[in-house]
Amino acid sequence: MTLPADYHTHTPLCRHATGEPIELAAQAVKLGLPELGFSDHNPMPRDGLDDWRMRASELDAYVASVREAQKKYPQLSIKLGLEVDYLPGYEDWVRDLARRYPWDYLIGSVHYLSESWAIDHPQQLAEWKSRDTFEVWAAYFERLAMAADSKLFDIIGHADLCKKFCFYPKQDCTGLFIRFLDAARRSGVAIELNTAGLRKACKEIYPSPAILKLAAQAGVPITFGSDAHAPGEVGLNLAEAVQLAREVGYTHSLRFTKRARELVKF
Ligand code: ZN
Ligand code: FE
Ligand code: FE
Ligand code: ZN
Repeated sequence: MTLPADYHTHTPLCRHATGEPIELAAQAVKLGLPELGFSDHNPMPRDGLDDWRMRASELDAYVASVREAQKKYPQLSIKLGLEVDYLPGYEDWVRDLARRYPWDYLIGSVHYLSESWAIDHPQQLAEWKSRDTFEVWAAYFERLAMAADSKLFDIIGHADLCKKFCFYPKQDCTGLFIRFLDAARRSGVAIELNTAGLRKACKEIYPSPAILKLAAQAGVPITFGSDAHAPGEVGLNLAEAVQLAREVGYTHSLRFTKRARELVKF
């Protein structure tokens, strides 16, 4: 099977990944990937929000490191993207970032439910135990719907990140999923099949087969991403993700060039 484009990868600038873009590109060439996209964690206006993203002053260096990989591997299509945290109130900051470089695509991700709680951060796991799981999931999918409605992004990242540590609500969440997917369909934003979930406690691709089935029914387009934080993770489990996408009825995924989309058969 030919693997799809890997659109979700990180660089050492986010302080929790290893391998420069040239090293990730080398791995992509070795695997025969048709395309590789970089999507490191975006800078925030205030560098002190957390310690897992590039500083605002490092954006130039990030773009330069991706350009370096493009120069070194002309035989590989390499895209310039960014994983952007969606937090209400930062829309103008995202618009400003979007204007600063000729991005191929922006992935909008919800990690924060408030400015003090990133739900996927292992050091903030205790917060989950002090909250009602269903309420957290409801708030999470509400944020995802807002991110989709904002039209700031081309792709919504890891759409059920809230399952990472296996806090699953007893209640049926179908209504939450549908609300988000309706927003995605309305705005035309894609969702990604992100294989990093397989490497976490939840041991499942983001999003779940149940969500993906609903997404296929709603006609929401998809992309693929390994969320690699090291060269060895590039393209990891993408064959499995393709299999899952096929099972729920997808035949095409999206690729982006300067934020213009193209449907590609897989
Ligand atoms: Zn990361
Ligand atoms: Fe993320
Ligand atoms: Fe990521
Ligand atoms: Zn991510």
